[in-house]
Amino acid sequence: MFSIPFIDIPPLRSAHGVVHLPGSKSISNRVLLLAGLCEGATRIHDALDSEDTRVMLAALRQLGCKIDAGDASLTIHGLGGRLGRSVASLFLGNAGTAMRPLCAALAVMAASQGGRFELSGLPRMHERPIGDLVAALRQLGCNVEWLGEVGYPPLRVSGAAADHRTGGADTQLRIHAPIRVRGDVSSQFLSALLLALPLASSAQPITIEVDGDLISRPYVEITLNLLARFGIVVEVDAWRRFVIPARSVYRSPGEIHVEGDASSASYFIALGAIAAGDAPLRIVGVGKDSIQGDIAFVDAARAMGAEVTCGASELEVRRGTFPLRAIDLDCNHIPDAAMTLAVMALFARGTTRLTHIASWRVKESDRIAAMATQLRNLGASVRAGADFIEITPPRTWQAAAIQTYDDHRIAMCLSLAACNPLALGGSRSVMPIPVRILDPQCVAKTFPDYFETLFSVVHADEADIPVITVDGPTASGKGTLASAVAQQLGYHFLDSGAAYRATALSAMRAGVAADDEAGLATVAANLDLQCLPGQTRLGGEDVTEMLRFEEVGALASKISAWPKVRAALRQFQLKHRRVPGLVADGRDMGTVIFPGADLKVFLTASAATRAERRHKQLILKGISANIDGLRAELEARDERDQSRPVSPLKPAQDAVLLDNSALSVQASVDAVLSAWQQRRPFG
Ligand code: C5P
Repeated sequence: MFSIPFIDIPPLRSAHGVVHLPGSKSISNRVLLLAGLCEGATRIHDALDSEDTRVMLAALRQLGCKIDAGDASLTIHGLGGRLGRSVASLFLGNAGTAMRPLCAALAVMAASQGGRFELSGLPRMHERPIGDLVAALRQLGCNVEWLGEVGYPPLRVSGAAADHRTGGADTQLRIHAPIRVRGDVSSQFLSALLLALPLASSAQPITIEVDGDLISRPYVEITLNLLARFGIVVEVDAWRRFVIPARSVYRSPGEIHVEGDASSASYFIALGAIAAGDAPLRIVGVGKDSIQGDIAFVDAARAMGAEVTCGASELEVRRGTFPLRAIDLDCNHIPDAAMTLAVMALFARGTTRLTHIASWRVKESDRIAAMATQLRNLGASVRAGADFIEITPPRTWQAAAIQTYDDHRIAMCLSLAACNPLALGGSRSVMPIPVRILDPQCVAKTFPDYFETLFSVVHADEADIPVITVDGPTASGKGTLASAVAQQLGYHFLDSGAAYRATALSAMRAGVAADDEAGLATVAANLDLQCLPGQTRLGGEDVTEMLRFEEVGALASKISAWPKVRAALRQFQLKHRRVPGLVADGRDMGTVIFPGADLKVFLTASAATRAERRHKQLILKGISANIDGLRAELEARDERDQSRPVSPLKPAQDAVLLDNSALSVQASVDAVLSAWQQRRPFG
């Protein structure tokens, strides 16, 4: 997604359709690491492509792995446990699933093979504890130094070059006694050791013992499951002792499929429980065969009232009991997906209590504090403690700009607050509110297309979907302005002139005369036109360039005066009003097509300026042009557009007039965005 400061989600009233989940983050990063460390090549299908997996791939490349990327698959040629580089500085963003296991794997390899590796990340990564993992690695004899604050990244792991006369790991690492690791801060410490210790490839088994309660056990199960796929079957004793068999060596399974992300599924399971009233929401990618612990979110959602049917690798969700039932749940087994329950609680009768969630405090943000603050901003009553949160739904919902703390899950789960009209019981007497999500691109960590996916399955009342219109004469820069504003707001964009131009092009091709109003209207009514970002397709053909030809524009200007042509194109234009919003440019967007638009801009520039701009454009394209001729043509078009009896070009009464003769594109965009920002409820 284009980097945008916020996205406003209009009040949502229903959801149905199909969602295809991105690959599981937890599985993807473990598989990428295992494939990178094992002997031989591994073809990985449907791996997640997101910030967290990109940092893992970049790190593997830096360590000497060869990676071939195809469309839906990746082939990783593993290092076979031998480091391809002896010095590297790895930047791991805010990916705990990369930082912890890479730290362990490199510490173990450097101890036996030598080398020096620095691991760092984003500022938040440097606030996420790793001391307990390092303590375990030091017991083994690994050398780990803190480069910043003790107990946190950045850090350096290193080792002297192996002495090949005396052998490798056995002589360097102290694996004879059990290695102890804390299990009650993050299960990733144990997972990291489990993933790394087979690299110590010893003649005797290696034992890990967990101190304290093991939290988030399902994530350790994913680790064990994937280790088994790579040839290492760990012996588990009461979830306290883990024994890696002697002479363990990773073996590539050759090919491996990554299932959809169960934590990402939680947002759509919740959406179905709240908003899939008539038709179900189908979620493709996870189901009852999932190896991810967060699939247990389904049971929690059911307890709150969702109706869920589970297939092997897909789910179908409908609203069951509604308002939802409040629950009191120990969420130790579903720490990530539990955040979604906190948002479902807004739609429940009574107070929901989620406990055993202390690990929220050391995730991408302090999630207990963050959720409490943002849920309160929406109007909910919230109590929070060291390891619990209690939510009572709002009496009155408040329009809130949700802070996301660079935490993807905060952005995704709180976007569901936009379903507030349903919590109000669908009553139109109480004002439904839009929800603003700040810094929405933080979802790129695990679900880059989250908002596009959400918007493809939700429905809002048309009147609630905001429209900004930008009208003005030819060559005033409407298109550039409108598309930039649309991009900044994450809204759809309609270039209505393209519809008139496409009608003109189709009429030229079909030999329909410019004065044949009925014939032209039939052409207009049957257009198979698709306006994609940066591309216009007519009957599947890319006609972007062709539509800009002068003769096409001139004919468009003529035929647009016919009332029947205008009527035939009306529906095409109206249907662009889709969630989350629309920016439409043309001549009559604010006056005729969207008379109730939320913001109307009428853009002008002097004829001389417009002729100069058009001249520059043509010269850049290598087309010779005469500036006086262009100006005369522009003025003739203005005259036709302004004097036609139907939908003449004129500013809507309530339009903001903007003369951009002396403004840069950015200055015009900023002027429109600032007019938009001042609007209620967020202004
Ligand atoms: O905006 P553009 O120059 O691409 O539009 C091509 C022609 O279509 C214009 O000259 C204008 O006459 C016509 N038009 C219209 N109403 C609109 C958009 C374009 O009449 N909403």
